[in-house]
Amino acid sequence: MPSLRLVPHQDPRSARPSLTFTSISRTLPSASSVIRVGRYSDREGSVNPAPNVPSDAPVGFKSKVVSRKHCEFWCANGRWHIKDVGSSSGTFLNHIRLSQPNLESRPFPVNDGDIVQLGIDFRGGEEMIFRCVKMRVECNRGWQKSLNNFNVTTHKRLRNLSKGLTKKDGDTASTHSSECAICLMSIAPCQSLFVAPCSHVWHYKCIRPILSGSNWPQFLCPNCRAVADLEADV
Ligand SMILES: [Zn+2]
Ligand SMILES: [Zn+2]
Repeated sequence: MPSLRLVPHQDPRSARPSLTFTSISRTLPSASSVIRVGRYSDREGSVNPAPNVPSDAPVGFKSKVVSRKHCEFWCANGRWHIKDVGSSSGTFLNHIRLSQPNLESRPFPVNDGDIVQLGIDFRGGEEMIFRCVKMRVECNRGWQKSLNNFNVTTHKRLRNLSKGLTKKDGDTASTHSSECAICLMSIAPCQSLFVAPCSHVWHYKCIRPILSGSNWPQFLCPNCRAVADLEADV
């Protein structure tokens, strides 16, 4: 089934940051489903289903420059489309406004990586609720989030990497190479990982405090005590 992910986008050229929000994923329950996008309402609440759970729940943004009914996404013949449904402050696809105020636009095809903007910053206030929404659209990338040939092969290579290390060094910390030595949870495909030059592997989120600690760019491996220069030329 077609899937869509809306990721917050910060334009480096714009003077003020756009609305911050958590990435939103939708996998359509049926080919004819429509994802409605508008201002957040307490009545509808916000639903953030797991990326692989089919849902066409409406998407709500907590911004006053987003209209109650702003735009819609749907998929036809494998291609995602967007239209403005009569918003007052406009829907922009790669900086081009789709329709005049309060008028519905024609459908426009959306490609993976396109930037969609909802509304324009309200100049009267600095608060987040007056910011426009800018988002990068990811189309049909669900295959990357589940097991596939590429990420399974990469994961196996990583495990083999640390297996070789165990034989050579016989160090006990790396005998459980399928686990992160920091959180003790398993290391699996589709996770963000960090691999040190000594071939020890952790979840990026777990090792980050050590990476960016006071010793930066020197990194002391918590498993084998090897020191690496993270800024060394490759
Ligand atoms: Zn971990
Ligand atoms: Zn190490």
